[in-house]
Amino acid sequence: MKTLKFALAGAMFSVAAMSGVAYAQDGKDITVGVSWSNFQEERWKTDEAAIKKALEAAGAKYISADAQSSAAKQLTDVESLITQGANALIILAQDSAAIGPAVQTAANNGIPVVGYDRLIEDPNAFYITFDNKEVGRMQARAVQEAQPEGNYAFIKGSSSDPNADFLFSGQMEVLKDAIDSGKIKNVGEAYTDGWLPANAQKNMEQILTANNNKVDAVVASNDGTAGGAIAALEAQGLAGSVPVSGQDADHAALNRIALGTQTVSVWKDSRELGKRAAEIALQLAEGKKMSEVTGAEEWDSPNGKKLESIFLKPVPITKDNLDVVIDAGWISKDEVCQGV
Ligand code: BGC
Repeated sequence: MKTLKFALAGAMFSVAAMSGVAYAQDGKDITVGVSWSNFQEERWKTDEAAIKKALEAAGAKYISADAQSSAAKQLTDVESLITQGANALIILAQDSAAIGPAVQTAANNGIPVVGYDRLIEDPNAFYITFDNKEVGRMQARAVQEAQPEGNYAFIKGSSSDPNADFLFSGQMEVLKDAIDSGKIKNVGEAYTDGWLPANAQKNMEQILTANNNKVDAVVASNDGTAGGAIAALEAQGLAGSVPVSGQDADHAALNRIALGTQTVSVWKDSRELGKRAAEIALQLAEGKKMSEVTGAEEWDSPNGKKLESIFLKPVPITKDNLDVVIDAGWISKDEVCQGV
C-alpha cells in the first residue's frame, strides 16, 4: 500500500491506494503546475513546449502562470496553482530568495516542487538544471582562445538569479591564472538587472566609456546580454573585432556567430530539460521520494543544503560547430546563415 496525498483548495487529505494503481502510473489525474518567471528569452517557450509535450504523453494536465518578472506575483501565482489542484509544481524562480515562502506553502500542503533551471536552495525542491559553472567555463574558454590577453569586461546575469554567480565563478576559474599574471585585466563587471538586454547595453556603454573604448573581450553571460553588449560595441565600431560570449543558442545569437559578431554561445537543449523536469514532477506526484527519482544525485548547495539534483551537460557552439544545432533540429541552416 502506498499513500497518495492530494491537496485541494489548500486543504490536505490522503487517499490510500494500492501501489501500481493505473492512474498513478500513467499520469492520468495528475496536474502539474508550472510557475514561469517570464518569457523574456526565446528559450522559455521551448522549455514550456517540452514540459507540455511530456505531460501530455503521460496523460497528465499542464497548468501554468507567468509572473512577468515580478517576484511578488510569483508568490501568488504558486498559491493559485495550488488552489487550482496542482499535484506537483515546477518553478522557474524569478528571485531565489523571495521564492522561499512559496516552496514552504507547497511543502505544507504535501505538494512536491521541482526547482527548474535556477537554484531554489531548499531541500523541499528537487533541482534540475544544466551545469551552470561549466557553462561559465565554456564561455571564458572560447573568449580567451580568441583573445588571450588584454582588457576584459564581464556582463553578468541578474543578481537575483544564482546562475549569475555560478556562471561568473566558472568564468573566473578559467581566467584566474591569466588575471593573476596580469595578462588579462578585468576592466569592469556588472550584474544585468532582470537579465535585460537594454541594461546589458547600458553597462557595456559605461565600461567602454570608463576605458576609452579599450576593451578587448567581453564575457557576457547569455545571448540576450551578449546582444546588448554587441549593440554597444557596434555604436563604437567595435562589433566583430571584440570577442563576445553568450549562452542559450538563441536563433539571433547563432546568426551573429555565423556573421562573426559573437564568438560563442552555449547550447543547453531545453527540450531535454523540460522533458526531464516533467518526468520528475510526475514521479514525485506519484509519491516517489526525491532520492528515488531516476538519476537523482545528492548535491551540496553553496549554503550547505543537501539537495537532490540532476545536472545536464551544456555544449559550446562556435563558428566551427554550428552544424551541431542544425543537425539537432534546433535551427535551420538558412536561419543560421542569414545575411552571411
Ligand atoms: C538561465 C539562462 C537564461 C537566463 C535569463 C538563467 O537562469 O540559465 O538560460 O538566459 O536565466 O532568463
